Amino acid sequence: MGGLKKDWKMEVAKTIQSIRKLVKAARAKGKTIGFVPTMGALHIGHISLIEAAARQTDFIIVSIFVNPTQFGPSEDFEKYPRPFDKDLEICKKHGVDVVFAPMPQEIYPGKNLTWVNVEKLTEPLCGQFRPGHFRGVTTVCAKLFNIVAPDMAFFGQKDAQQAIVIKRMAADLNMPLEIVVCPTIREPDGLAVSSRNQYLTRQQRKGATLIYKSLQKCRETIEAGVTNNKKIIDQMRKILNQIPSAKIEYISIVNAETLESIDQVAGKVLAAVAVKVGSTRLIDNILVDAD
Ligand code: AMP
Repeated sequence: MGGLKKDWKMEVAKTIQSIRKLVKAARAKGKTIGFVPTMGALHIGHISLIEAAARQTDFIIVSIFVNPTQFGPSEDFEKYPRPFDKDLEICKKHGVDVVFAPMPQEIYPGKNLTWVNVEKLTEPLCGQFRPGHFRGVTTVCAKLFNIVAPDMAFFGQKDAQQAIVIKRMAADLNMPLEIVVCPTIREPDGLAVSSRNQYLTRQQRKGATLIYKSLQKCRETIEAGVTNNKKIIDQMRKILNQIPSAKIEYISIVNAETLESIDQVAGKVLAAVAVKVGSTRLIDNILVDAD
C-alpha cells in the first residue's frame, strides 16, 4: 500500500513541534488527517486500524507511546513490550505517513495538574479493577488529539469500554474530530489479538481460547432466548473456570451504550470479560443484539 503512494516517505516525529509542522504541511496540501493512537508492539489489530485510516483519510499518523498515567503501580508499565524498530517497519509497510513517538517527558514535562475524567462510563467493568486507568487514557488522548489535530481517530472494539469513554469525551468536550471504532481482530482460534498475548506460556495460551468460547456461548444462549443475566453469566463462568491458573476479574453483560447493569438481557448488550491468566490480564467482549 505504501509503495503505491506517490513521493511517499515515512517520517518519525519525536517532538510536539515536529509533528505539528508535518500536520500543518499535510493540511496545506488539502489532506485529511487520520490518527491511530497505540502503545506500540504493533500487531494485526493495530494494522486493521491503520488500514481503516487509509481508507477514510489521506494522511495517516500512528502514535507509539506507552502512557505511564494509565498504568497502576502494580501493572506492567516497565515490562510492556517496546519493539520500536519492528513497529517502524510495520508502519512503513502499511503506508503510514508519520509515526509520532514522543518520550514521556515530551508529553508530561512536569507534574500534570490537569486531567480529563469521564464520569459514570468509567466506573463499571475495567474501571472497578484499574483505578485511575481511564483518567490516564482520556487525558493522554485529549493531549494527543490537541497535538495531532486529526479529522478522524481510530480505536478498536477490543477495548470496548475505552472506545465508549473516548467517544463520550470527544462529544462532551466538543472535540472537532470523529471517533471511529473498528472490529476486534482475532487469532484463528478466536483469541483476541493483544500485545500482552506474548506473555502467555504455551499452556496459558491454549487455555486463553476459552475466553472467546465463553463469549460465543453467551451469544448462543441469548440467541436461544435466555434473558436472565445471572444464568448466562454462570454458564460463562463455568467455561472460564476451566482455564488453568486463571482468575476471573469480571464477567458482565451490560447495556451497550450506557454500560449500566441489567437483570434481564434486552436490546443491544455488551458482554465483556477480564481474566488474569497467570499474571497476564486479558480482556475481550462481544456486542449482542438481544431483540
Ligand atoms: P494498544 O496499543 O493496546 O493501546 O491499542 C491501540 C489501539 O489498537 C486501541 O484502539 C485498541 O483497541 C486497538 N486494538 C488492540 N488490539 C486490537 C484487536 N485485536 N483488534 C482491533 N483493535 C485492537
